[in-house]
Amino acid sequence: SKNGYPASQDKGILIVLSGPSGVGKGTVCSALRECSGTDLIYSVSATTRSPRQGEVDGVNYFFKTREQFQHLIENDEMLEWAEYVGNYYGTPRKFVENTLNSGKDVILEIEVQGALQVKQKFPEGVFIFLLPPSLDELENRITGRGTESEDVIRSRMSVAIDEIKLMEHYDYALVNDRVDYACSRIQAILTAEHCRKDKV
Ligand code: 5GP
Repeated sequence: SKNGYPASQDKGILIVLSGPSGVGKGTVCSALRECSGTDLIYSVSATTRSPRQGEVDGVNYFFKTREQFQHLIENDEMLEWAEYVGNYYGTPRKFVENTLNSGKDVILEIEVQGALQVKQKFPEGVFIFLLPPSLDELENRITGRGTESEDVIRSRMSVAIDEIKLMEHYDYALVNDRVDYACSRIQAILTAEHCRKDKV
């Protein structure tokens, strides 16, 4: 290892953050990116969904056609991918592998089906589930965003309830009651993970 101790590896830590749509994963992730002291590299996903107001290609997502996305899957360029409420979402594989190999920590903000695929490939990853304070609060947040139609809101709520059932596959669960609290909990987890014996 870098210190001369017989540690197993100097690779970065892979953090996978999931949670139902509307729980505030995006907000927590942006807050984490701005937090001083965290050197977490955010993996930008590909999606076939249309950009929302203010979203920028290559920053929020790589926006793709279904055909382009299909090609990425066929060429084994996706670490994982999933269909979510009618659109494809996936994590570009090489970026994640290269960043981890260079010793930096990476965070993926993805839904549950994809997270379970990542767990197959990276069992040493740290899987964190973000919970809303309550289901009522979750519906308020999805509605409050004002960007989704009633049908989409209903689908997202039903997917959310199914997703929460899969929490058992995660290492950590934390409530997103306040963004700054959620953020410091994630930093605490990252600090703890860096103190694991194999990371010294
Ligand atoms: P949204 O359309 O609200 O940006 O994202 C919808 C859902 O897709 C969210 O739960 C988000 O975490 C998830 N998602 C975003 N990127 C990826 C990805 O690369 N892979 C998977 N499996 N899910 C993703």
